[in-house]
Amino acid sequence: MSLISRVVDIPLFLHIESECIEKIGDILSQNNLLFKNVLLLSGDTTFKAAGRRVVDILTGLGKSVDVMRIPDSTIETAERVRASIKDSNYNVVIGVGGGKVIDVGKYASNLEGINFISIPTTVANDGICSPVSVISYKKEKRSIITKTPIGVIADLSIIKDAPIRMIRAGIGDLLSNISAVKDWELAREIKGDNFDEFACLLSSRAAESVLISDSNDILSLEFLNKLVGSLTLSGISMGIAGSSKPASGAEHKFSHALDVISKNPALHGEQTSLGLIIATYLRGDDWERFVSIFGHWGIPTKAKELNISKEEVVKALIFAPKTRPDRYTILEHIKINEKKAIEAAEKTGVI
Ligand SMILES: [Zn+2]
Repeated sequence: MSLISRVVDIPLFLHIESECIEKIGDILSQNNLLFKNVLLLSGDTTFKAAGRRVVDILTGLGKSVDVMRIPDSTIETAERVRASIKDSNYNVVIGVGGGKVIDVGKYASNLEGINFISIPTTVANDGICSPVSVISYKKEKRSIITKTPIGVIADLSIIKDAPIRMIRAGIGDLLSNISAVKDWELAREIKGDNFDEFACLLSSRAAESVLISDSNDILSLEFLNKLVGSLTLSGISMGIAGSSKPASGAEHKFSHALDVISKNPALHGEQTSLGLIIATYLRGDDWERFVSIFGHWGIPTKAKELNISKEEVVKALIFAPKTRPDRYTILEHIKINEKKAIEAAEKTGVI
């Protein structure tokens, strides 16, 4: 019998530090990435914050760089990028920007079979290193399995300057892992779902390392380093699992439902923060712990802080099971209905 081994897809390189964008030339050559033709994706603001600098460094090294602006993460935009890769001879796609730029980059590069480098300018969610792209089809957002980026360059001096709301949302998305893992354990117990211990260990430990942090300053380099590292590990846990299950349970279904129902959806990580509090309550676990730490870090714990109405919260909780019908969570387990939704949202102070 031959030896059995398991291959885990992780990036070739990972740099999380201040000013590391300046070293992109060295990073590429150290990894023998000697490509010539680059497609760089960026948003308007993020191009000014970092994209232009990356273009300058790469062209200075003799590389040819085309820039495409990414206004959103709709399927139309993602397919436009894909068509552009198909029609050209790019060797690599580099995404310099927030979640939408990186989602579109992972989607298009994976389908066209070329490598993708992730240079996040914000950390509002755990997509910076995950093999999952969230793409919008009209109002519905779909999570599509793609490929883990070949490398991640997270320049903390740029991430620090992004709106603090983004960082708070990133914390909310990360801490959701604690709830998501509980849901997967429940699905294993009740539905016999295939469970991945290693993916869940990585995902929950990544979240807990930030949860137990006693930092009073979420903009400190020390805290940001921990947060970005943990979001990276969260992404890798999804790669190990081959699905978003270690980082997406009932709290994510609630967020997906709000995206459909709410007139003004908030940031993904802000919505999962509310979902995390409610899902933890429904499980009978210590939800007040999350309200307390979120309050400490200025993360919204009430729907009205996000301009989401009471009715939208209740409707979203009832609609949530339909957003991922194949994923069993605490919402299906307790057979969520209007009465239970109102009670949970009121008791936790979310509405
Ligand atoms: Zn998420």
